[in-house]
Amino acid sequence: MYLTIHRGTNEIGGSCIELATNSSKVLIDIGLPLDFNLKTKEQQQLIKLQVQNWCVDVDAIFISHYHQDHHGLLSEVSLEMPVFVTRGTASMFNINSVFLPNKTKFDNVQIIKPATTSLPAIPVTIGDIKITAFTVDHSAYDACAYLIEADGKKILYSGDIRLHGRKGILYKNFPQDVDFLILEGTNIEKSNTSKTECDIEQEFVKLFKNKDGKLNFVWCSGQNIDRLTNIFKATIKTHKILVVDVYIAAVLYEIHKLNDKIPSPESHGIKVWYTHPIKYSIGETNYSLLFPNQRIRPIEIINNPENYVVVMRPSMLRFIQQNLKVSKANVITSLWKEYEKGEKRFFNWVDLQGYKKLHIHTSGHADMQSLKTIADYINPKEIIPIHTLKKDFFETVFRQKIKLLEDNESYNI
Ligand SMILES: [Zn+2]
Repeated sequence: MYLTIHRGTNEIGGSCIELATNSSKVLIDIGLPLDFNLKTKEQQQLIKLQVQNWCVDVDAIFISHYHQDHHGLLSEVSLEMPVFVTRGTASMFNINSVFLPNKTKFDNVQIIKPATTSLPAIPVTIGDIKITAFTVDHSAYDACAYLIEADGKKILYSGDIRLHGRKGILYKNFPQDVDFLILEGTNIEKSNTSKTECDIEQEFVKLFKNKDGKLNFVWCSGQNIDRLTNIFKATIKTHKILVVDVYIAAVLYEIHKLNDKIPSPESHGIKVWYTHPIKYSIGETNYSLLFPNQRIRPIEIINNPENYVVVMRPSMLRFIQQNLKVSKANVITSLWKEYEKGEKRFFNWVDLQGYKKLHIHTSGHADMQSLKTIADYINPKEIIPIHTLKKDFFETVFRQKIKLLEDNESYNI
Protein backbone atom coordinates (compact mmCIF):
# COMPACT_ATOMS: atom_id res chain seq x y z
CA MET A 1 0.00 0.00 0.00
CA TYR A 2 1.16 3.53 -0.75
CA LEU A 3 0.64 6.48 1.56
CA THR A 4 0.86 10.01 0.19
CA ILE A 5 0.15 13.09 2.26
CA HIS A 6 -0.75 15.57 -0.45
CA ARG A 7 -0.85 18.46 2.00
CA GLY A 8 -0.33 18.79 5.75
CA THR A 9 3.26 17.66 6.37
CA ASN A 10 4.40 21.28 6.85
CA GLU A 11 1.24 23.16 7.70
CA ILE A 12 -1.71 23.29 10.03
CA GLY A 13 -4.79 22.80 7.88
CA GLY A 14 -5.48 21.89 4.27
CA SER A 15 -4.93 18.21 5.12
CA CYS A 16 -5.29 15.56 2.43
CA ILE A 17 -4.07 11.95 2.71
CA GLU A 18 -4.12 9.32 -0.04
CA LEU A 19 -3.97 5.57 0.58
CA ALA A 20 -3.72 3.32 -2.43
CA THR A 21 -3.38 -0.40 -3.10
CA ASN A 22 -2.89 -1.91 -6.54
CA SER A 23 -6.65 -1.87 -7.10
CA SER A 24 -8.22 0.77 -4.81
CA LYS A 25 -7.59 4.32 -3.71
CA VAL A 26 -9.15 6.51 -1.02
CA LEU A 27 -8.57 10.05 0.17
CA ILE A 28 -8.95 11.03 3.81
CA ASP A 29 -9.83 14.71 4.28
CA ILE A 30 -9.64 17.27 1.53
CA GLY A 31 -9.09 20.48 3.44
CA LEU A 32 -8.81 24.10 2.47
CA PRO A 33 -5.51 25.73 3.55
CA LEU A 34 -6.17 28.09 6.47
CA ASP A 35 -4.48 30.95 4.58
CA PHE A 36 -6.50 30.36 1.38
CA ASN A 37 -8.15 33.79 1.48
CA LEU A 38 -4.76 35.52 1.77
CA LYS A 39 -3.51 33.91 -1.46
CA THR A 40 -3.68 35.49 -4.92
CA LYS A 41 -6.49 34.49 -7.29
CA GLU A 42 -3.95 32.50 -9.35
CA GLN A 43 -2.70 30.61 -6.28
CA GLN A 44 -6.28 29.86 -5.25
CA GLN A 45 -7.05 28.55 -8.74
CA LEU A 46 -3.97 26.32 -8.57
CA ILE A 47 -5.06 24.87 -5.23
CA LYS A 48 -8.47 24.05 -6.69
CA LEU A 49 -6.89 22.45 -9.77
CA GLN A 50 -4.61 20.25 -7.62
CA VAL A 51 -7.73 18.60 -6.24
CA GLN A 52 -8.65 17.31 -9.71
CA ASN A 53 -5.23 15.57 -9.88
CA TRP A 54 -5.53 14.09 -6.42
CA CYS A 55 -8.94 12.69 -7.30
CA VAL A 56 -7.81 10.72 -10.38
CA ASP A 57 -8.82 7.05 -9.86
CA VAL A 58 -10.04 7.77 -6.32
CA ASP A 59 -12.85 5.43 -5.26
CA ALA A 60 -14.10 7.34 -2.20
CA ILE A 61 -13.31 10.23 0.13
CA PHE A 62 -13.58 10.08 3.94
CA ILE A 63 -13.85 13.29 5.97
CA SER A 64 -12.75 13.37 9.62
CA HIS A 65 -14.81 16.42 10.66
CA TYR A 66 -16.56 19.54 9.42
CA HIS A 67 -13.81 22.14 9.92
CA GLN A 68 -12.95 23.88 6.64
CA ASP A 69 -9.29 22.89 6.83
CA HIS A 70 -10.38 19.24 6.59
CA HIS A 71 -13.22 19.34 4.05
CA GLY A 72 -13.18 22.79 2.41
CA LEU A 73 -12.14 21.58 -1.07
CA LEU A 74 -14.94 19.00 -1.34
CA SER A 75 -16.80 21.55 -3.45
CA GLU A 76 -14.16 20.97 -6.18
CA VAL A 77 -14.82 17.22 -6.26
CA SER A 78 -17.20 15.56 -8.74
CA LEU A 79 -20.70 15.05 -7.35
CA GLU A 80 -20.40 11.40 -8.42
CA MET A 81 -17.64 10.75 -5.86
CA PRO A 82 -18.82 8.81 -2.78
CA VAL A 83 -18.05 10.85 0.35
CA PHE A 84 -18.25 9.27 3.82
CA VAL A 85 -18.82 11.31 6.98
CA THR A 86 -20.29 10.80 10.45
CA ARG A 87 -23.88 11.86 11.16
CA GLY A 88 -22.79 15.01 13.01
CA THR A 89 -20.59 16.08 10.11
CA ALA A 90 -23.41 15.46 7.61
CA SER A 91 -25.77 17.50 9.74
CA MET A 92 -23.38 20.46 9.86
CA PHE A 93 -22.83 20.25 6.08
CA ASN A 94 -26.62 20.52 5.66
CA ILE A 95 -26.98 23.51 7.95
CA ASN A 96 -24.04 25.32 6.38
CA SER A 97 -25.38 24.74 2.87
CA VAL A 98 -28.41 26.78 3.92
CA PHE A 99 -26.86 29.53 6.02
CA LEU A 100 -23.39 30.17 4.65
CA PRO A 101 -22.94 31.97 1.31
CA ASN A 102 -21.60 29.92 -1.63
CA LYS A 103 -21.73 26.66 0.30
CA THR A 104 -22.23 23.59 -1.83
CA LYS A 105 -24.91 21.11 -0.89
CA PHE A 106 -23.30 17.69 -0.63
CA ASP A 107 -25.95 15.29 -1.84
CA ASN A 108 -23.40 12.51 -2.29
CA VAL A 109 -22.49 12.06 1.38
CA GLN A 110 -22.93 8.68 2.98
CA ILE A 111 -22.86 8.00 6.69
CA ILE A 112 -20.11 6.01 8.36
CA LYS A 113 -20.88 4.81 11.88
CA PRO A 114 -17.93 5.30 14.23
CA ALA A 115 -17.03 3.38 17.35
CA THR A 116 -18.19 5.26 20.45
CA THR A 117 -17.99 4.31 24.13
CA SER A 118 -21.25 2.37 23.81
CA LEU A 119 -21.40 1.22 20.19
CA PRO A 120 -19.04 -0.72 17.93
CA ALA A 121 -18.08 0.81 14.59
CA ILE A 122 -19.55 -0.33 11.29
CA PRO A 123 -16.59 -0.35 8.88
CA VAL A 124 -16.82 0.57 5.19
CA THR A 125 -15.00 -1.48 2.57
CA ILE A 126 -13.76 0.18 -0.62
CA GLY A 127 -12.31 -2.54 -2.89
CA ASP A 128 -9.54 -4.12 -0.80
CA ILE A 129 -9.35 -1.24 1.71
CA LYS A 130 -11.29 -1.43 4.97
CA ILE A 131 -11.98 1.84 6.81
CA THR A 132 -13.24 2.11 10.39
CA ALA A 133 -14.15 5.37 12.14
CA PHE A 134 -13.60 6.17 15.85
CA THR A 135 -15.24 9.15 17.53
CA VAL A 136 -12.65 11.52 19.02
CA ASP A 137 -12.68 14.53 21.28
CA HIS A 138 -12.22 17.72 19.24
CA SER A 139 -13.89 21.12 18.95
CA ALA A 140 -16.04 19.77 16.09
CA TYR A 141 -19.03 17.62 17.05
CA ASP A 142 -18.80 13.96 15.96
CA ALA A 143 -15.21 14.34 14.72
CA CYS A 144 -13.53 11.02 14.04
CA ALA A 145 -10.23 9.24 13.50
CA TYR A 146 -9.90 6.56 10.82
CA LEU A 147 -8.30 3.13 10.85
CA ILE A 148 -7.30 2.04 7.35
CA GLU A 149 -6.56 -1.64 6.78
CA ALA A 150 -5.15 -3.05 3.53
CA ASP A 151 -2.34 -5.29 2.28
CA GLY A 152 -1.93 -6.68 5.80
CA LYS A 153 -1.13 -3.24 7.29
CA LYS A 154 -2.98 -1.06 9.80
CA ILE A 155 -2.78 2.74 9.68
CA LEU A 156 -4.54 4.95 12.18
CA TYR A 157 -5.11 8.62 11.27
CA SER A 158 -5.92 10.70 14.35
CA GLY A 159 -7.71 13.55 12.56
CA ASP A 160 -7.80 16.54 14.92
CA ILE A 161 -7.83 15.31 18.50
CA ARG A 162 -7.45 16.37 22.14
CA LEU A 163 -7.87 14.79 25.56
CA HIS A 164 -8.95 17.84 27.58
CA GLY A 165 -12.55 18.04 26.36
CA ARG A 166 -15.42 16.16 27.99
CA LYS A 167 -14.91 13.09 25.77
CA GLY A 168 -11.13 12.85 26.08
CA ILE A 169 -11.33 9.25 27.26
CA LEU A 170 -12.54 8.16 23.80
CA TYR A 171 -8.94 7.57 22.68
CA LYS A 172 -9.12 4.32 24.63
CA ASN A 173 -11.44 2.95 21.91
CA PHE A 174 -8.55 3.11 19.45
CA PRO A 175 -6.93 -0.08 18.18
CA GLN A 176 -3.47 -0.74 19.62
CA ASP A 177 -0.21 -1.96 18.09
CA VAL A 178 -0.97 -0.56 14.63
CA ASP A 179 1.78 -0.27 12.03
CA PHE A 180 1.52 3.50 11.50
CA LEU A 181 -0.05 6.37 13.37
CA ILE A 182 -0.57 9.55 11.32
CA LEU A 183 -0.77 11.99 14.21
CA GLU A 184 -1.75 15.67 14.24
CA GLY A 185 0.73 17.98 15.95
CA THR A 186 -0.89 21.42 16.03
CA ASN A 187 0.24 21.94 19.65
CA ILE A 188 3.23 19.57 19.68
CA GLU A 189 5.39 22.26 21.33
CA LYS A 190 2.82 23.13 24.03
CA SER A 191 4.51 21.71 27.13
CA ASN A 192 2.08 23.15 29.69
CA THR A 193 -1.17 21.31 30.37
CA SER A 194 -4.28 22.61 28.57
CA LYS A 195 -7.26 23.93 30.48
CA THR A 196 -10.13 21.47 30.29
CA GLU A 197 -13.59 22.27 28.94
CA CYS A 198 -14.78 21.83 32.57
CA ASP A 199 -12.33 24.61 33.59
CA ILE A 200 -13.84 26.79 30.87
CA GLU A 201 -17.35 26.20 32.18
CA GLN A 202 -16.19 27.18 35.68
CA GLU A 203 -14.61 30.39 34.36
CA PHE A 204 -17.91 31.32 32.72
CA VAL A 205 -19.80 30.51 35.93
CA LYS A 206 -17.45 32.74 37.94
CA LEU A 207 -17.92 35.61 35.52
CA PHE A 208 -21.69 35.28 35.14
CA LYS A 209 -22.11 35.20 38.94
CA ASN A 210 -21.09 38.86 39.20
CA LYS A 211 -24.00 41.10 40.10
CA ASP A 212 -22.65 44.12 38.25
CA GLY A 213 -25.55 44.95 35.95
CA LYS A 214 -23.52 44.02 32.87
CA LEU A 215 -24.67 42.29 29.73
CA ASN A 216 -22.36 39.43 28.73
CA PHE A 217 -21.56 39.12 25.02
CA VAL A 218 -19.73 35.91 24.07
CA TRP A 219 -17.98 35.44 20.73
CA CYS A 220 -17.55 31.73 20.05
CA SER A 221 -17.84 29.44 17.06
CA GLY A 222 -21.43 28.52 16.24
CA GLN A 223 -20.12 25.08 15.34
CA ASN A 224 -18.30 24.43 18.61
CA ILE A 225 -20.98 22.37 20.32
CA ASP A 226 -18.87 21.64 23.43
CA ARG A 227 -18.34 25.35 24.02
CA LEU A 228 -21.99 26.28 23.41
CA THR A 229 -23.02 23.52 25.83
CA ASN A 230 -20.58 24.84 28.46
CA ILE A 231 -21.86 28.39 28.11
CA PHE A 232 -25.43 27.09 28.35
CA LYS A 233 -24.59 25.12 31.52
CA ALA A 234 -22.94 28.21 33.03
CA THR A 235 -26.09 30.26 32.37
CA ILE A 236 -28.23 27.62 34.08
CA LYS A 237 -25.94 27.60 37.14
CA THR A 238 -26.08 31.40 37.39
CA HIS A 239 -29.79 31.82 36.56
CA LYS A 240 -29.17 33.68 33.34
CA ILE A 241 -30.80 33.24 29.94
CA LEU A 242 -28.75 32.24 26.90
CA VAL A 243 -29.53 34.10 23.66
CA VAL A 244 -28.29 32.83 20.29
CA ASP A 245 -28.92 33.92 16.70
CA VAL A 246 -30.97 31.82 14.29
CA TYR A 247 -27.88 30.13 12.80
CA ILE A 248 -26.71 28.79 16.17
CA ALA A 249 -30.31 27.98 17.08
CA ALA A 250 -30.53 25.87 13.91
CA VAL A 251 -27.19 24.16 14.68
CA LEU A 252 -28.32 23.26 18.20
CA TYR A 253 -31.76 22.18 16.97
CA GLU A 254 -30.25 19.80 14.38
CA ILE A 255 -27.50 18.38 16.63
CA HIS A 256 -30.02 17.91 19.46
CA LYS A 257 -31.87 15.54 17.11
CA LEU A 258 -28.73 13.33 17.11
CA ASN A 259 -27.97 13.70 20.81
CA ASP A 260 -30.57 14.91 23.30
CA LYS A 261 -27.84 15.94 25.77
CA ILE A 262 -27.11 18.89 23.50
CA PRO A 263 -29.31 21.84 24.50
CA SER A 264 -31.87 23.00 21.96
CA PRO A 265 -33.88 26.27 21.96
CA GLU A 266 -37.36 24.82 22.48
CA SER A 267 -36.47 22.12 24.99
CA HIS A 268 -33.90 24.07 27.02
CA GLY A 269 -35.30 27.59 27.16
CA ILE A 270 -32.63 29.18 24.96
CA LYS A 271 -33.81 32.46 23.44
CA VAL A 272 -33.32 33.30 19.77
CA TRP A 273 -32.61 36.76 18.37
CA TYR A 274 -33.09 37.44 14.68
CA THR A 275 -30.42 39.68 13.23
CA HIS A 276 -31.21 39.12 9.54
CA PRO A 277 -34.30 38.72 7.39
CA ILE A 278 -35.33 35.10 7.73
CA LYS A 279 -35.23 33.05 4.57
CA TYR A 280 -33.60 29.83 5.62
CA SER A 281 -34.95 26.34 5.21
CA ILE A 282 -33.63 22.79 5.03
CA GLY A 283 -35.99 20.44 3.25
CA GLU A 284 -39.21 20.41 5.24
CA THR A 285 -37.63 22.46 8.03
CA ASN A 286 -38.30 26.15 7.59
CA TYR A 287 -36.32 28.05 10.19
CA SER A 288 -38.57 31.06 9.88
CA LEU A 289 -41.31 28.94 11.44
CA LEU A 290 -39.17 27.43 14.17
CA PHE A 291 -38.72 28.63 17.73
CA PRO A 292 -41.87 30.85 17.78
CA ASN A 293 -41.94 30.79 21.58
CA GLN A 294 -38.23 31.41 21.96
CA ARG A 295 -37.91 34.65 20.04
CA ILE A 296 -36.57 37.59 21.98
CA ARG A 297 -36.57 41.24 20.97
CA PRO A 298 -33.40 43.29 21.70
CA ILE A 299 -35.42 45.72 23.86
CA GLU A 300 -36.15 42.89 26.32
CA ILE A 301 -32.38 42.39 26.72
CA ILE A 302 -31.69 46.13 27.04
CA ASN A 303 -34.29 46.39 29.82
CA ASN A 304 -32.61 43.64 31.90
CA PRO A 305 -29.04 43.24 30.59
CA GLU A 306 -27.75 41.38 33.65
CA ASN A 307 -30.19 38.55 32.97
CA TYR A 308 -28.75 37.60 29.60
CA VAL A 309 -25.72 36.04 27.93
CA VAL A 310 -25.74 36.84 24.21
CA VAL A 311 -23.68 34.76 21.79
CA MET A 312 -22.64 36.98 18.88
CA ARG A 313 -20.07 37.49 16.13
CA PRO A 314 -18.16 40.68 15.25
CA SER A 315 -19.99 40.73 11.89
CA MET A 316 -23.14 41.61 13.87
CA LEU A 317 -21.60 44.93 14.96
CA ARG A 318 -24.01 47.11 12.97
CA PHE A 319 -27.05 45.29 14.34
CA ILE A 320 -25.71 45.52 17.89
CA GLN A 321 -24.94 49.24 17.49
CA GLN A 322 -28.44 49.92 16.25
CA ASN A 323 -30.44 47.55 18.44
CA LEU A 324 -28.51 46.28 21.43
CA LYS A 325 -26.43 49.12 22.81
CA VAL A 326 -26.15 48.89 26.58
CA SER A 327 -24.16 51.05 28.98
CA LYS A 328 -22.15 48.21 30.60
CA ALA A 329 -21.01 44.90 29.11
CA ASN A 330 -18.37 42.21 29.10
CA VAL A 331 -17.17 41.00 25.71
CA ILE A 332 -15.72 37.51 26.02
CA THR A 333 -13.70 36.00 23.19
CA SER A 334 -14.11 32.24 23.43
CA LEU A 335 -11.93 31.45 20.43
CA TRP A 336 -8.21 31.56 19.63
CA LYS A 337 -7.21 35.09 20.72
CA GLU A 338 -5.39 35.82 17.45
CA TYR A 339 -8.78 36.02 15.68
CA GLU A 340 -9.34 39.36 17.46
CA LYS A 341 -6.67 40.91 15.22
CA GLY A 342 -8.89 40.40 12.19
CA GLU A 343 -11.80 42.21 13.87
CA LYS A 344 -10.26 45.63 14.57
CA ARG A 345 -13.43 47.60 13.80
CA PHE A 346 -15.47 45.57 16.28
CA PHE A 347 -12.90 45.71 19.09
CA ASN A 348 -12.25 49.43 18.54
CA TRP A 349 -15.97 49.94 19.11
CA VAL A 350 -15.84 47.72 22.21
CA ASP A 351 -13.01 49.90 23.58
CA LEU A 352 -14.94 53.06 22.74
CA GLN A 353 -17.94 51.81 24.73
CA GLY A 354 -15.70 51.03 27.70
CA TYR A 355 -16.80 47.38 27.67
CA LYS A 356 -14.51 44.92 29.43
CA LYS A 357 -12.69 42.44 27.15
CA LEU A 358 -12.01 38.91 28.40
CA HIS A 359 -10.65 35.70 26.93
CA ILE A 360 -12.05 32.34 28.06
CA HIS A 361 -10.91 29.53 25.81
CA THR A 362 -9.06 26.25 25.46
CA SER A 363 -7.71 24.67 22.29
CA GLY A 364 -9.37 21.97 20.20
CA HIS A 365 -5.97 20.26 19.87
CA ALA A 366 -3.96 18.03 22.18
CA ASP A 367 -0.96 19.41 24.08
CA MET A 368 2.41 17.62 24.08
CA GLN A 369 1.67 15.36 27.06
CA SER A 370 -1.72 14.33 25.61
CA LEU A 371 -0.10 13.47 22.27
CA LYS A 372 2.39 11.28 24.13
CA THR A 373 -0.44 9.60 26.05
CA ILE A 374 -2.24 8.85 22.78
CA ALA A 375 0.92 7.51 21.11
CA ASP A 376 1.85 5.34 24.10
CA TYR A 377 -1.64 3.87 24.22
CA ILE A 378 -1.73 3.06 20.50
CA ASN A 379 1.89 1.86 20.46
CA PRO A 380 2.45 2.20 16.69
CA LYS A 381 5.59 0.97 14.95
CA GLU A 382 6.00 4.43 13.39
CA ILE A 383 4.47 7.87 13.85
CA ILE A 384 3.98 10.10 10.81
CA PRO A 385 3.43 13.80 11.63
CA ILE A 386 0.62 15.82 10.02
CA HIS A 387 -1.21 19.11 10.67
CA THR A 388 1.90 20.67 12.19
CA LEU A 389 4.47 23.38 11.61
CA LYS A 390 6.98 21.51 13.76
CA LYS A 391 7.30 17.96 12.44
CA ASP A 392 11.02 17.80 13.33
CA PHE A 393 10.04 18.36 16.95
CA PHE A 394 8.20 14.98 16.95
CA GLU A 395 11.56 13.19 17.24
CA THR A 396 12.28 14.92 20.56
CA VAL A 397 8.84 14.16 22.05
CA PHE A 398 8.00 10.54 21.26
CA ARG A 399 9.80 7.32 22.13
CA GLN A 400 8.37 5.70 18.98
CA LYS A 401 10.09 5.83 15.59
CA ILE A 402 9.16 8.94 13.58
CA LYS A 403 8.82 8.91 9.80
CA LEU A 404 9.00 12.40 8.30
CA LEU A 405 7.31 12.88 4.95
CA GLU A 406 7.07 15.86 2.62
CA ASP A 407 3.89 16.86 0.81
CA ASN A 408 3.19 14.56 -2.16
CA GLU A 409 6.00 12.17 -1.22
CA SER A 410 4.83 8.60 -1.75
CA TYR A 411 5.69 6.14 1.03
CA ASN A 412 5.53 2.41 0.29
CA ILE A 413 4.22 0.81 3.41
ZN1 LIG B 1 -10.48 20.68 13.42
